Amino acid sequence: MQVTPDYYDMINIGFGPAGIALACALEEAAHQPLTTGQCLFLEKNSHCAWHPEFLLDGTDINHHLLRDLVTPRNPQSRHSFAMYLKEHGRLYQFGLLGRPASRNEWSDYVAWVGKAFAPYVHYDEQVLEIRPAIEDGRVEQLLVVTTKGHYLTRNLVLSTGSTANIPRQFAKLSRTRVIHTSHYLSSISELEPQAPWSFAVVGSGQSAGESTVDLLRRFPNARVTSIHRSSGFKIAQLGQFPNQAFHPERVTYFHKLGQAEKAMILEEVKSTNYSGIDVDESQALYSLFYEGLVSQKPRLELKVFTHIESVSQDQATLTLHTCDPYTRECDSVSADYVILGTGYQQDYVPAPLAQLQPWLTLGNDNGVLVEQNYRLTTAPNFKPAVYVNGLSERSHGIGEGQSFSLLAMRAGILTHSLF
Ligand SMILES: Cc1cc2nc3c(=O)[nH]c(=O)nc-3n(C[C@H](O)[C@H](O)[C@H](O)COP(=O)(O)OP(=O)(O)OC[C@H]3O[C@@H](n4cnc5c(N)ncnc54)[C@H](O)[C@@H]3O)c2cc1C
Repeated sequence: MQVTPDYYDMINIGFGPAGIALACALEEAAHQPLTTGQCLFLEKNSHCAWHPEFLLDGTDINHHLLRDLVTPRNPQSRHSFAMYLKEHGRLYQFGLLGRPASRNEWSDYVAWVGKAFAPYVHYDEQVLEIRPAIEDGRVEQLLVVTTKGHYLTRNLVLSTGSTANIPRQFAKLSRTRVIHTSHYLSSISELEPQAPWSFAVVGSGQSAGESTVDLLRRFPNARVTSIHRSSGFKIAQLGQFPNQAFHPERVTYFHKLGQAEKAMILEEVKSTNYSGIDVDESQALYSLFYEGLVSQKPRLELKVFTHIESVSQDQATLTLHTCDPYTRECDSVSADYVILGTGYQQDYVPAPLAQLQPWLTLGNDNGVLVEQNYRLTTAPNFKPAVYVNGLSERSHGIGEGQSFSLLAMRAGILTHSLF
């Protein structure tokens, strides 16, 4: 006998910050806890955490703490960072800290909010694909296929976060030797701490900088080659005026522009969030570099203006074949492990939607078209609503990509559109 899958009014995939912010907004719109059986949140991890693979000691958040999961939408919410501090008895102590919250504390805050919604979340359940449920030539519902079962819905929200960016030269190499920072801690914790490892770190952004410092501290006998296409680590754009790109009114402005204009603006403001490090990180990295010169035992080497052309691998070593684009001189770097601090990207068509492609309207760039309220544009014979939550940087601007800035406001708009 065939069992009919359970139906939910809304299914949200991914219970990271964006998914959690949505749960808060839904609860507050109904002025009551969510109703079981109405909304389902699916999360592939076994518990709620914020980028757990890169929670490094000594790192802190790079957004203002008022931009938490709820405050910009509802400063009276019970799920604010201030409420978290109050409940943990640290409100006054935090006030004396004199620096932003650490990433560890922020992750604990995110998990604390996530716990309030435990009855509505299925952890350890990865969504594998979304299938169309077709009746009389129309897609009436969506079948959500997971590692544990099937569910039906008419409202789907993708809160799955950005995808690790693996440069093509590394795509076919083993993940045990080539480690993207999205798998950093679980990979690195396997290694013998006192061994004289050689690491090559690729990238010039915050995760490349942080992993370089972490490797040199964690492995006292290791050496690190830090590889840059550019002139090296740069400070991210911290000016108040360019950082207004993360304000809600900029989203409205950006969304109505044409594709070419959007691309130009993204290019103009990208240094506010990408390919830059903060001042503390730059200081720490330069100190480590300089200490090597003083001791004449350099453990950190910087290779700038270096393009990685190809990579070869034998049993013990990876060899990166490099070229300077200006002098055209070629060289190579050998390492036991490569760390990819190459960041994240937003897929043109989010992977779980592959089977819905025939009904999705695509733009000139072959990416999904996202309406102002985050609903995807679909064919007339496609009845369900599919929304993206945190995957709309190309359509809504830099604040809608990899940032906390607009999570809370977006959750409010999604809630309004959904119910
Ligand atoms: C190391 C690091 C530090 C950062 N620091 C900051 C910062 O200080 N300030 C800031 O504003 N931004 C920061 N960011 C940007 C970051 O993108 C946001 O802070 C935030 O995590 C975005 O939340 P999200 O829910 O959209 O995505 P994510 O945090 O990536 O969460 C997505 C969730 O979806 C789950 N998921 C994915 N696919 C599936 C599936 N198929 N089935 C089930 N579950 C799935 C994932 O397991 C994850 O829990 C940082 C990013 C990184 C990587």
